[in-house]
Formats: sequence, C-alpha cells, structure tokens
Amino acid sequence: MDRSISSQLHQEANRHLVGGVNSPVRAFKSVHGDPIYFNRASGAIVEDADGNSLVDFVQSWGPLVHGHAHPEIIKSISEVMAKGTSFGAPHIGEIELAKRVKERFPSIDLVRFVSSGTEAVMSAVRLARGYTGRDAIVKFEGCYHGHVDSLMVKSGSGLATFGISSSPGIPDATSGTTIVLPLDDEGALEYVFNDNGENIAAVIIEPLPANNGLLIQRKEFLEKLRSLCDEYGSLLIFDEVISGFRFPVGGYAGHIGIEPDITTLGKVIGGGLPVGAYGASREIMSVLSPMGPVYQAGTLSGNPLAMAAGVATIDLLDDDAYEFLEGLGSLLEREVGSVLEKHSFPMRLVRIGSLFWLSPGPGALPRRSDEIPDNGSKLYADVHLGLLQRGYMMAPSSYEIGFLSTSHNEEHVIGLAKALDGVLRDLGDLL
Ligand SMILES: *Cc1c(COP(=O)(O)O)cnc(C)c1O
Repeated sequence: MDRSISSQLHQEANRHLVGGVNSPVRAFKSVHGDPIYFNRASGAIVEDADGNSLVDFVQSWGPLVHGHAHPEIIKSISEVMAKGTSFGAPHIGEIELAKRVKERFPSIDLVRFVSSGTEAVMSAVRLARGYTGRDAIVKFEGCYHGHVDSLMVKSGSGLATFGISSSPGIPDATSGTTIVLPLDDEGALEYVFNDNGENIAAVIIEPLPANNGLLIQRKEFLEKLRSLCDEYGSLLIFDEVISGFRFPVGGYAGHIGIEPDITTLGKVIGGGLPVGAYGASREIMSVLSPMGPVYQAGTLSGNPLAMAAGVATIDLLDDDAYEFLEGLGSLLEREVGSVLEKHSFPMRLVRIGSLFWLSPGPGALPRRSDEIPDNGSKLYADVHLGLLQRGYMMAPSSYEIGFLSTSHNEEHVIGLAKALDGVLRDLGDLL
C-alpha cells in the first residue's frame, strides 16, 4: 500500500505542529513508518490520504463504540448544531446525558460534565481533597489518568516512597503528594494505609487498567482497596474513562460489583466529541461549586453538540449491542488466539468485552506493569506494520489496547486473524 501522501503531510506537519501531532502516540514513534493521515471514516473503515481503506481497531482510542460517523449520532449532532454550537448557559441536553449516566452508574447522584478525561480526573482529585481536607493521593504504577500533574509520577526506589515526577515541568511539591504503589499487591496497600492512612484523601485506580496493556485485576485486590478506604475515611476513585460504558451494567464497577466513591468518565460518554464527567453521591458532590467551596468551571462544559453525541451513543448501547460486542469479542479471541498458537508466536490475546490487547508472552498474563516482558515492543512494531500493509489498523504502540465497536462484523474480525496469519508467516520466514 502506497502511503506517500501521508508521509508528505507528516513532513509538512512537522514544520507547524510539535512532532507533527497534537497527542504524542499518534506520531508512530514506537512502530515503523510515518503516521497515517485520515481523510474520512465510516463505521469500522477509515480511508487514508492516499485512498487506502483500513479496518480500524483503534476507533479514536475508545470513544467510538458505534464506529465512525454513525448515522444516528451524526443526525443528533446536526439537529442540535443548527440551533447553536455553544450556549454557556444551561440547556436540556445536559439533563438528558446526566440522567443516562446515573441510570448506568448507581453510585452517582450528581454529575459534573467537563471536556476531557484529564479534566475529569484532575477535578475529581481536587474534589476528594476538598471533601476530606487531606492532601495525599495514592495511585498505581501502570495506571494512566490523563496528563494530570499530580498523577504523572512513577514509583521511587522503595515501597511507599512519595512519587517522583515522570515529566519535567512538574514541581516536586506537586508530585510529592502522590504515593505510587504496584497493582495486584494487597500487602503494599496495607503497608501504606497503616503508615499514612489518615492523610490519604483518595486512592485513584483504573479498576480495569487499560492504558499499559490490559492488566485485569483480581477482585480480591479491588475489594481490599475498598475496605481500606472505608476503614481510613479515604475516597475511592474509579477512573472509568476507558472502561465506562463498555459493560452492560455501565462500568467495570458494576461488572465486578464494587462501588467507588467517585467515578470519572470520558471517551464513550462523548461519542466522538470532547466530553469528560465525574460523579459521586450527593453528599460528596455538594462540596463542589456552586453548591460548595471547591471550585471547578469550564467555558465549553456541557457543550450542546457533545451532550447530543453522548445521549445518542448511550441510547444505542442497549442489551443487544453488548451481546453483539461480547459475541464479536469471543470470536476475536478464538480466531486470533489460534493464529498466535499455530505460529507459536510469543504473544497472547487478552480480551474482556469489547477491549483487547496483544500481550507479549509466554508466561502468566500480566497483572502489573513490571510483569510485561520488555521484548514486546519490538515484536509488536513488526506485527503492526504487517497488519497495516494488509489493511488492518491497530494502535501504534504495544501498550495500547484495541477496541471493537458495534460497526465491526465477523468479516472484519476473521479478516484480522487471516491477516495476522500472513504477517506471522512472513515474519517466521525472516527469522
Ligand atoms: C484516556 C484516559 C484518560 C484521559 O482522557 P483524555 O480525554 O485523553 O484527557 C484518563 N484516564 C483514563 C483511564 C483514560 O483511559
């Protein structure tokens, strides 16, 4: 497949945009070749600037649970758009989306909409600190919560050390309020709470960590977290920006039956337009301005187009949709799994619902970031390129997961497995 126009556009973009992109992973730094420029997209298929068609398993990194340009979602947005693109005043769309969020997340009484997942998390952390009057936040290595200053930290040398920033530009005083722990380790949790529990405002976790591979947690670990938060009066924040609305019961919280104190949402909730949200019980949310003293605002928050896209997206997510996604997911698991096995390729397919990840293997499935073998990225780069040449678009990083949408069908999934078979055969010949 010729991609010369994409490459030319990337050269030009490099003169005007930082690294040619507006979000780093899009730059294809950890896979081969230049980023692919999209011209248009419909359903599961994108057409690139060179006129190639690709089956897309990235789906804008999660938001497009019904695929690109779904007619009903586009129709809703268009109807609302004709009446004005932004009001900066209350409108009925906000009520409609809030009701749908509450239906699916029973731990939420009141919702606040913002414009990104990062903003939702940043605001939820402030809310937790304001509510508890405490400063310390616990997060986990291998969980991503957007580019929030206080959460861009990695673990120090020893257990329970306060975080060291993983990006320049973040003062020690900011990252110093964050404690970083490993996932899947109840002992570490107990140690930190015994040591410091009365200073911990909140523990934030992706209950289904899906930004550093797909690190499915044991339920006992999440239950321990819940009970320690209760014991010490710390709030439990489930960051469901990626997992929210991917399960019939709403979020991963419902799937496993553990209720958080605060939930953060993004991606699917905006159906392809910029929306984030956070919500909790009335008691917790009441400390938020204008009801209470914790400030948080946004010029474009609750934007009418974004609310309309979210409402249409969620309304299309009925029981049939989830059943369809689960069926497609298990087909993918079988088809791709058997191809990997056939070639004895050191990768496994990890899958839950409509989310999947090509995990470097062999060995037990990783539950922590340090359990992911580090030869994975190199292998993945070759697989990524091979699939691209055969018309299948996967995320340009071995740590990013894949997404199924209701616009995918069995043909797309079986096609992916067949393409992978070809890629691995060619790679085998090279070895
Ligand atoms: C994507 C993501 C974020 C950040 O959301 P943005 O809209 O990219 O700011 C935060 N948390 C999780 C779990 C995510 O997957």
